[in-house]
Amino acid sequence: MPAENPTAPRPALLTVDDDPAVSRAVARDLRRRYGDRYRVLRAESGGEALAACRELKLRGEQVAVLLADQRMPGMSGIDFLEEAMDLFPVARRVLLTAYADTAAAIDAVNVVDLDHYLLKPWDPPEEKLYPVLDAQLDAWHAAAPPPVPGPKVVGHRWSARSSQVREFLARNQVPYRWYAVESAEGRRILEAAGVDGEHLPVVVTGEGDVLVAPDDATLAARVGLAVRPASDFYDLVVVGAGPAGLSAALYGASEGLRTALVERTATGGQAGQSARIENYLGFPDGVSGHSSPSGRGARRSGSARRSS
Ligand SMILES: Cc1cc2nc3c(=O)[nH]c(=O)nc-3n(C[C@H](O)[C@H](O)[C@H](O)COP(=O)(O)OP(=O)(O)OC[C@H]3O[C@@H](n4cnc5c(N)ncnc54)[C@H](O)[C@@H]3O)c2cc1C
Repeated sequence: MPAENPTAPRPALLTVDDDPAVSRAVARDLRRRYGDRYRVLRAESGGEALAACRELKLRGEQVAVLLADQRMPGMSGIDFLEEAMDLFPVARRVLLTAYADTAAAIDAVNVVDLDHYLLKPWDPPEEKLYPVLDAQLDAWHAAAPPPVPGPKVVGHRWSARSSQVREFLARNQVPYRWYAVESAEGRRILEAAGVDGEHLPVVVTGEGDVLVAPDDATLAARVGLAVRPASDFYDLVVVGAGPAGLSAALYGASEGLRTALVERTATGGQAGQSARIENYLGFPDGVSGHSSPSGRGARRSGSARRSS
């Protein structure tokens, strides 16, 4: 089944086997059939595969299938699957075993809620690998949550700073997803980020970078808002992007002045926080502060703005 959003990253099929030849062979067979719809990732140890899972989690990407060899030094396939399911609980878990491990694999069905086990060798894949994975992918699509590509904020609902960070993102038109620290997904994100949640909020950018209790300037820079002037010289610098500053900057720029508008929080000023401005010029029926010409400002262009 193809991914529903064509711009979203393709869900991952992650395979782990400590034998590089086997790992490459599994990945090759997976790519041949699924490579156009899924990203096929391979690792050669449980630790390496877990690191990949954490990175995918932080970037808000999806893992559809985890395909693990059972016998690996350091971390067995079952141990890997058990840890990976903490990060991706709905990913389908498949163990790749040699004949001698079949009994252990069957026991593991209960331990890690294994979805299937496959016997090595899996040739021909058309008979022994693809039918199993097709069924697993159908099941995953039926249960998979949508990907979360933008910034994620994990915080405490009663924390002042968590509220400020959410408001800062919202007022700057940066779409984000909020997770209460006590929610299951909030805990999963903190676990993937490798932080204990003592300092909140934790913001994970769309690229998967982790910011612990960031200040506004750091946050602005990391979520794509402009924080530096684009030029060394301006004819006019307006400080404050409330209605007054926006108007001044607009008229300055329309007169041909190279104009910079500097704002410490978000365009719109107080008007941007108003649910309804009753007397905005040109809007006889009123307009919400958020969508007023002031509030609309230069969306997502950030704290240092320039018009020329
Ligand atoms: C809830 C609410 C409802 C309102 N409803 C109405 C209404 O219906 N009709 C009406 O006419 N008015 C209304 N007002 C008032 C109106 O919003 C204000 O009069 C108007 O926003 C004032 O514009 P301003 O640009 O002078 O200042 P502000 O809107 O206060 O903007 C100043 C901007 O400068 C920024 N700033 C300050 N210092 C710095 C610095 N050092 N560096 C960078 N940036 C800085 C601030 O962050 C802010 O964005 C309402 C206000 C509020 C809060």
